Amino acid sequence: MAQSSNTPTGVDNTFRRKFDREENQFLSMRDPPVQRKPLKHRDYKVDLESRLGKTQVVAPVAPLNQQAGYYCSVCECLVKDSANYLDHINGKKHQRGFGMSMRSERATLEQVQQCFENLKKRKHTGGFTEQDFDERIMKQQQEEEERKLQHREKKKEKKKEKAAEEEPEMDPDVASMMGFGGFKSSKK
Ligand SMILES: [Zn+2]
Repeated sequence: MAQSSNTPTGVDNTFRRKFDREENQFLSMRDPPVQRKPLKHRDYKVDLESRLGKTQVVAPVAPLNQQAGYYCSVCECLVKDSANYLDHINGKKHQRGFGMSMRSERATLEQVQQCFENLKKRKHTGGFTEQDFDERIMKQQQEEEERKLQHREKKKEKKKEKAAEEEPEMDPDVASMMGFGGFKSSKK
């Protein structure tokens, strides 16, 4: 009515556009582009065999990590076989879960030179250097130690569980009063 005759038709649009732009700027300030770390070497051994040959009861409604297959705790997903599991942990989605991009870091000149040096040494000794050998032995020893430790821990836990199951804690006085105290001696 009166408004349309006084104000040019474009005004409302301009206002809207400005508003949108401000909104967009505001949004982009809130969510800066995600900076992901460059891709890195795995520094652990992928465990594909620990459950090999073992028997496990599989229920379709069990939590994912108790179902058949390879469970990824980072992405909380289940992969059916080792090949697909390797694909998964090398894949984009999984690396993103770790906060890594798929781009690798650019090597420095020194790193490249060092790499060439190592390769040259390898060529002379036919395969690998003494350093490689030492490193491999060290790594194997470490892994062996870790395995032993884990084994021992497991045994301890099992023992504890068994003990808890077999002998419920009881006050020695109460036990003797009930006639359990002399269990061992009475057997003699
Ligand atoms: Zn994953």
